[in-house]
Amino acid sequence: MTQMNYTARPKQTRVAIIANGKYQSKRVASKIFSALKHDRNFYLSKENPDIIISIGGDGMLLSAFHMYEKALDRVRFVGIHTGHLGFYTDYRDFEVDTFLKNLRADQGEKISYPLLRMTVTMADGRVVTARALNEASLRRLEKTMVADVSINGTFLERFRGDGITVSTPTGSTAYNKSIGGAVLHPTVEAFQMTEIASLNNRVYRTLGSSAIIPKGEKVTIEPKRVGSYSVSFDNKSYNYRNVAKMEFSLDDKKISFLSTPHHTGFWERVKDAFIGEVEV
Ligand code: NAP
Ligand code: MN
Repeated sequence: MTQMNYTARPKQTRVAIIANGKYQSKRVASKIFSALKHDRNFYLSKENPDIIISIGGDGMLLSAFHMYEKALDRVRFVGIHTGHLGFYTDYRDFEVDTFLKNLRADQGEKISYPLLRMTVTMADGRVVTARALNEASLRRLEKTMVADVSINGTFLERFRGDGITVSTPTGSTAYNKSIGGAVLHPTVEAFQMTEIASLNNRVYRTLGSSAIIPKGEKVTIEPKRVGSYSVSFDNKSYNYRNVAKMEFSLDDKKISFLSTPHHTGFWERVKDAFIGEVEV
């Protein structure tokens, strides 16, 4: 029997490196690029990547997510932070060697987190849909927003205030937290609705607290006044006149991160970002 005299070439992992404009980010990017360029297990390309390395901050990871959101079934993300602490970043800029070691040992493990789906329906019937990794918000620009809020078809309240934000679990530590929302662990398959400066007095009443809504349920917000509205999701924002309805639910897709031994636990991130070391 003749022996086959070749070994099958291992499947190459396609890797995209995305960095923000900071000097330190570019340095980290070129270090990773040089390390992987001659490694036959990896193929560097911004097209159809399997792994996306985002270098910068959380904002950079949000941008990378939107760049590749059409390929969520295939891609895994990993963040390297070149500033202060980040929520979506597992490595700091001085940990590139550890990162490369873990990347070379990677067996395809991933950890996935829920995403939000929003649908905006205009008065003329036009529909805009988008996904968010952090949150989506509806705000009225020049006057108090008056809007009816329903959860899964049940009318909850007539809201009056600046607007409403709906966040994912991983987005709960971003804008949602600044407006008094709860911090939600990302393995909880739910999303959160939080009010922005609601009017509450003898005449007007809203729930007042954030509400956590499970997967499969839907929040509907129907503005009651003609006017100019800001619809934002993650780091994008658009102004529309005459928004008839905005709906939110958990998306059927998730975002996956590289689950290297360095993947930081959620409560560890929360402590690092908001509490730090305190004397007890
Ligand atoms: P940015 O103005 O740089 O973001 C504001 C801060 O939020 C940055 O420090 C950013 O971290 C941090 N951040 C982003 N996602 C986070 C998360 N999931 N958990 C904890 N902190 C997070 O703008 P950006 O970088 O393009 O990010 C857009 C996001 O900023 C929005 O989705 C919104 O959540 C948040 N934001 C918050 C406020 C507020 O709290 N008042 C106002 C506007 C926007 P990096 O420095 O690492 O980027
Ligand atoms: Mn930022």
